[in-house]
Amino acid sequence: MNTRHWIQLAIRIDEQYQDLLSGLLVPLGFSGFVQEDNMLKGILPQHKWTPLLRSKVESALANFRREFPSLDLSYRKTIVREQNWNRKWEKQTGIVEATHRIIIKPSWKKLPARYKNSIVLHIDPKMSFGTGHHETTRLSLGLIERFIKPDMNVLDFGTGTGVLAIACIRLGAKSVSAVDTDEWSIENAKENVKRNRVQKQIFVIQGSVSAIPRRKYELIVANIDYKTIARFLSSLSKHLSNQGILIFSGILTDDLPSLRRMFAEHRLALVECVHENEWSSVVLRRIHV
Ligand code: SAH
Repeated sequence: MNTRHWIQLAIRIDEQYQDLLSGLLVPLGFSGFVQEDNMLKGILPQHKWTPLLRSKVESALANFRREFPSLDLSYRKTIVREQNWNRKWEKQTGIVEATHRIIIKPSWKKLPARYKNSIVLHIDPKMSFGTGHHETTRLSLGLIERFIKPDMNVLDFGTGTGVLAIACIRLGAKSVSAVDTDEWSIENAKENVKRNRVQKQIFVIQGSVSAIPRRKYELIVANIDYKTIARFLSSLSKHLSNQGILIFSGILTDDLPSLRRMFAEHRLALVECVHENEWSSVVLRRIHV
């Protein structure tokens, strides 16, 4: 049997940064990522591990360390044989079943046959947030799936990888304005929008509330955080159509009571509230008198 050899790098890195780092390693030729508690493992055909590639890896890690100085990022290099690593990879699909119908797949993973009837979102994270590994993204997707109606025009405030915007189109929305302040996210969202062939329906816009097109939306989703929601609640609700629906995620359950007071002040009624671990997501509608 023709056994191919691979280089495996095992990089010490906290779990919440692993998606970002794997996104940086993909363009360098790495694949087959295995995520463990404090370790990200990726492999590369042995013949590609040249001194040049090694220096590229080192400089990618150095940049990453500059961005997140608290991270360890030390790594160990081993040689693995193809058969071994294949078996390991199969155990770790890297595919997220976000809801019963929606799965999120990075481009370096093949789609297992059992998902052929699912809605598949093709998402590569690079430096942005939104791979479906996080509770807040999955909670948002579950609520979008339940509350979206065909032909809605959607605002995705804080789009990250574009994952929620892409899901909305797949679920029948007419258009999405996908807004984010972060340059990396904008670049990455645009790539993912193209990857999913929805560039005619999703408009990726850099900026905060002032960058939102002057129009009303039937659905507004924001998987962001308590402070940003509190700060922009008034502006966002102005973009909500009369019968529109607002979905907020990224809320720590402890912060819910004070947000609920704010919702009431803005004449927004709580329609639904869901939780996973310490996270909560809410659905709101305008109160009509
Ligand atoms: N929607 C994705 C990403 C959520 S992370 C998901 O559900 O997984 C939150 C995103 O909001 C980040 O990409 C961050 O850059 C963006 N963000 C933070 N403050 C913002 C603001 N004031 N305006 C627009 N985007 C903002």
